[in-house]
Amino acid sequence: MNLEQDTFKSYNNEPFNADVFDVKLVDSNLSGLWRYHQFLPVNFKDAITLGEGYTPLLPVKLFGKQVFVKQEQLSPTGSYKDRGASVLMSYAKKIGVTHVVQDSSGNAGCSIAAYAANAGIGCDIFVPADTSSAKLAQVRAYGANLFLVDGDRQATAAAALLAAQKAYYASHCYNPYFLQGTKTFAYEVCEQMGWKTPDVIVLPAGNGTLILGCYIGFKHLFESNVIAKMPKIVAVQAANCAPLYEAWKQGLNEPVKVNSGLTLAEGIAIAEPIRGKEMISAVNKTQGIFVTVSDDEVVGALKLCNSQGFYIEPTSAATIAGLKKAQEIVEGETWVTLFSGHGLKSTEKILAILDA
Ligand SMILES: *Cc1c(COP(=O)(O)O)cnc(C)c1O
Repeated sequence: MNLEQDTFKSYNNEPFNADVFDVKLVDSNLSGLWRYHQFLPVNFKDAITLGEGYTPLLPVKLFGKQVFVKQEQLSPTGSYKDRGASVLMSYAKKIGVTHVVQDSSGNAGCSIAAYAANAGIGCDIFVPADTSSAKLAQVRAYGANLFLVDGDRQATAAAALLAAQKAYYASHCYNPYFLQGTKTFAYEVCEQMGWKTPDVIVLPAGNGTLILGCYIGFKHLFESNVIAKMPKIVAVQAANCAPLYEAWKQGLNEPVKVNSGLTLAEGIAIAEPIRGKEMISAVNKTQGIFVTVSDDEVVGALKLCNSQGFYIEPTSAATIAGLKKAQEIVEGETWVTLFSGHGLKSTEKILAILDA
């Protein structure tokens, strides 16, 4: 899949309503991400929506500096994955899919299960056996069939791929429609800043659904002359599982082989990101950088956020720890980042941190 072709070209001969982004075409009567339906590959009348998107962009003081933090933990299922799931499942419903398969380390499974339920589509979710119990409860509550797979994230993907021979593969990593949903994050940041772009945007780097979505969205706005420049993308990996950081540091354009070590940031511990090459390219094209964060730094960032009343999962805190690192390296006035997932999804891990 070619990232440039993914940007805003048609899929299956179905053109988007508008190829060029025009601010006047934003449907501001709609409160969520479907306000951008003119730039999405599914018509609004076919939308499967739970009210996702248009999360607050809140000024927050972190590490002595004011940054803008998108409150994605407030999404319907508690993570930004709902953006991708809404657009992908709308498309699936529209083409007549009756059953989907998907694999994830947690949050993408929750999102796909929720939107499948809303669409009346059957759903099988494969997760690693050690996924946190709150996410397992969430998937089951939405009525999806849950399959626990022994072994790592790669073993889970293999099991799902096998099952996908008989059903539609609603993968957040492979399926380009998912990125068409996450790109709305970039549209919203710019709209909420008065159609301006931040200088730097700090994002998690696991499978890259947000990095690639943001790249597509900002590029669309830039090529449509809505914004004057692209923000630098700072991509944050866990030090114990950093195939992209290691590659980038060595000047390579493909992820290197790493062992997937244990990390508190379960949501970004992806040893073999299938769009890794595209992620490195996107970061380089914006003059961005990769950084890594240790578990100690994740805990520090989590406690800082908690102390201001924000309850987020440890994976989300990794991005905030990365913000601190990047501020020592990258120049820029305006910084945007996000709280990617809600703390209620990781009760055991947070209890373990508090009790340590
Ligand atoms: C999925 C996820 C990430 C990582 O995003 P990728 O798309 O895999 O790069 C970060 N934080 C949370 C809470 C997530 O659910």
